[in-house]
Amino acid sequence: MTIWDVTVDLAVVGTGVAGLTAALRAAELGLRVVAVTKTTVEDGNTRCAQGGIAVVWPGPPPGDSVDAHVADTLVAGAGLCDETAVRTILAAGPAAVSELKMHGAVFDGGWADVHRTREGGHRAYRVIHAGGDATGAEIERTLAGAARSRQLMLLEGQSVSEVLRDDTGRVAGLALLDELGAGVLGARAVLLATGGLGQLYAASTNADVATGDGLALALRAGALTADLEFVQFHPTALYLGTGSRGRQPLVTEAIRGEGAVLLDIDGAPVMTGVHPLGGLAPRDVVAGAITRRMAATGTDHVLLDATHLGSAELRRRFPTVHAACASVGVDPGCEPIPVAPAAHYQCGGVVTDTSGRTTVPGLYAAGEVARTGLHGANRLASNSLLEGLVMGRRAAEAVAADFTVSRCPGPPLPSHEPRPVADRDALQQSMSAHAGIGRDSAGLAAASAVAGATTRRRIRTPHDAEDAGLTLAAAAVLAAAAARTESRGCHLRTDHPRSAERWRRSIAVVLDDDGTPVLAEPVLIGGVA
Ligand SMILES: Cc1cc2nc3c(=O)[nH]c(=O)nc-3n(C[C@H](O)[C@H](O)[C@H](O)COP(=O)(O)OP(=O)(O)OC[C@H]3O[C@@H](n4cnc5c(N)ncnc54)[C@H](O)[C@@H]3O)c2cc1C
Repeated sequence: MTIWDVTVDLAVVGTGVAGLTAALRAAELGLRVVAVTKTTVEDGNTRCAQGGIAVVWPGPPPGDSVDAHVADTLVAGAGLCDETAVRTILAAGPAAVSELKMHGAVFDGGWADVHRTREGGHRAYRVIHAGGDATGAEIERTLAGAARSRQLMLLEGQSVSEVLRDDTGRVAGLALLDELGAGVLGARAVLLATGGLGQLYAASTNADVATGDGLALALRAGALTADLEFVQFHPTALYLGTGSRGRQPLVTEAIRGEGAVLLDIDGAPVMTGVHPLGGLAPRDVVAGAITRRMAATGTDHVLLDATHLGSAELRRRFPTVHAACASVGVDPGCEPIPVAPAAHYQCGGVVTDTSGRTTVPGLYAAGEVARTGLHGANRLASNSLLEGLVMGRRAAEAVAADFTVSRCPGPPLPSHEPRPVADRDALQQSMSAHAGIGRDSAGLAAASAVAGATTRRRIRTPHDAEDAGLTLAAAAVLAAAAARTESRGCHLRTDHPRSAERWRRSIAVVLDDDGTPVLAEPVLIGGVA
């Protein structure tokens, strides 16, 4: 085992928008920081983001406000947002985007006249973008470039398998795995910025590294998690054929913002009469309507007609989508794009306050892995990049504010306890079959049985660690989904199709002494319990 002979002030796990923003800010504040990533710096969901960043940017056109952005976010969140968190995070948006521009990010339309588009659930044109539909790539390029030019310590190809704590329960370091073996890194604070869990499902828009590791790491470290049942499905992933598995290319919602229309396989509009915002309704509404229409027409996809934009404009404004369509022989300027919903975003996660502090001393979380209360039961489109920018910065500032030099123990050794591991393929298939859009108690029980059919395995490789993380994340999501006997936001239960006032509260999950996810009392309403 390699024991690094250095104890850093802050180990950031993850090099997406949240992790790199935090690492850069921590270094500015004089902390000794290292950022760790499973494969390469650019490997997460950040680089995949297409639509843009939702932010109330000063300047024309007039008429938008932080209050309006807050209102749209609360509507999308279906009664479960923490309004204080929503307001403080969204109000910090313009400063966070300015900071990103200072690092060199270039948005379409330039500095003063930045171009804005609309996405589902937004009543104003407030989504700024870069490279047409390559916003995430521009953010990742900018932040990774800034990190490298400032010579931040970047540890690539290291998978974190455990957050190590001292005998007082305080975070003391990380256990690492690579293909050659195990290692230990001492750290006075750890920030989880590990992204989402889309790979829990058979078909997802997410990067391969999105295997829910951060959720599992936090649960095992004793942290409180919440809102895990709210897994958002993007309504329009490019349909690649029956039973297509793994990562599916996204067809950004911004295309609907530019007038594209959803049609069923017979050419009838999907969203007419469903919601006042039509095709730009919040994602849960659109994904639910598509799922119902697919069932009614006996198909596994619908169509997105963007032909009014023409091939040249589509290639210019949406180059990523155009290229993905071309790769499967579709010319979106001449024919409708076949699309279907796919697992996309983890709305809940590790409970933090609005500075990124979790319930475990020395453990912080930011970005998609965290549950700040911003998203509630359903994330408003393009609020997540903004959250990563704002909360990454704040978490670094919280680490600096909490910093104490009084105690600097070496990290304890990892536990090496075997962990329960389910079959990854069976798990993904059963999560898609039973824990996607339209769940019921029998299906959730069937998926829980698959997640519970485990063997105990020693964790020797990064792949083993992912499998164990996926198994635990599935069990935690399923526990929360089974408990919520209503439909709300992106949690749609066919056996409980309506929302119930008594469920207008978050469900928290922790691990019991046997390592099983259980519901925590008291049930959270917002912030840290
Ligand atoms: C196709 C797609 C399009 C999207 N479009 C938009 C959009 O237009 N607007 C918007 O706001 N949001 C969008 N999102 C969501 C948004 O991109 C993500 O929520 C956000 O980028 C997450 O950033 P993050 O920093 O939390 O994590 P990520 O960028 O996913 O980074 C996670 C990092 O954690 C590392 N990691 C994970 N586990 C471990 C481990 N065990 N050990 C070491 N490292 C680990 C990974 O290697 C990676 O570096 C989109 C998402 C997808 C998938």
